[in-house]
Amino acid sequence: RSEDVGTPRRTKEIIAKYGFSFKKSLGQNFLIDQNILNKIVDAAELDETKGALEIGPGIGALTEQLAEAAGKVTAVEIDNRLIPILNDIFAEKNNVQVVHGDVLKLDLRKLFDEQFAGVAGISVVANLPYYVTTPILMKLLEERLPLEHIVVMIQKEVAERMAAKPGGKDYGSLSVAVQYYCEPKLVCTVPHTVFIPQPNVDSAVIKLTLRDKPPVDVPDEEHFFRVVQASFAQRRKTLANNLTAMAGKERREAVLQLLTRCGIEPSRRGETLSLEEFARISRAMLEEGW
Ligand code: SAM
Repeated sequence: RSEDVGTPRRTKEIIAKYGFSFKKSLGQNFLIDQNILNKIVDAAELDETKGALEIGPGIGALTEQLAEAAGKVTAVEIDNRLIPILNDIFAEKNNVQVVHGDVLKLDLRKLFDEQFAGVAGISVVANLPYYVTTPILMKLLEERLPLEHIVVMIQKEVAERMAAKPGGKDYGSLSVAVQYYCEPKLVCTVPHTVFIPQPNVDSAVIKLTLRDKPPVDVPDEEHFFRVVQASFAQRRKTLANNLTAMAGKERREAVLQLLTRCGIEPSRRGETLSLEEFARISRAMLEEGW
């Protein structure tokens, strides 16, 4: 058996063998550290009854480890130059399926039906292309795909925003959106040196465990997220000012009264509000027919 893909030597060998050149525009930074790969795979809690969707397999460093841990691995890769390389490397792995496509454009429900029939649970496990981290994660969450965990390597700052609690500078609409759907946990931070080529940002692995149901009572999700967006629209403004901008100037007084009725001081800033408080405001506004 040849050396694992995710090592400096084998990665360089594969790149040379196929004459592969990295495309920065596709966020191509390949992992070359078995220790980090193991941490990612361990966090995903896979076993032979489970399926893993990998987004952006590159030359397959993570794919290889996932194939050992899960019953089935489906890897979606946008770069057509990598498809024959992956098919070659995994020719003898009958639980690995490589799919050529842009994950943002794929019908993932259909892909799940085709790829994961009979598996006991599906998780997304990936070293994501950093230029599209947030759109990819929001697509996975908003489409309410039947997922157990999402374990991803992302930019450290984004991981911190996703896991942030109210009150700090990292807490914003991304924190609220992620925490509405999942329970976030930072698995580890990762140095530049575990990638070829090295990215110029810091990285971290985050584990998002999907909730069975949202942690707060939200009758209209679209409205809830509009309230959240509005509350963070201008971070230096008070909640009262930001919500007045959303509701209309003529409702200035009504906004103040509504917040007071909700037990929320109008001079607070959006970044101090919990999910429960955003939900309370959204429910009160809906009751007023706003
Ligand atoms: N998993 C490999 C590893 O850890 O070594 C490669 C990770 S690299 C950070 C990101 C991969 O995502 C690249 O292979 C890139 O071509 C691919 N990619 C970029 N945008 C994509 C998209 N929209 N859909 C699917 N794959 C994408």
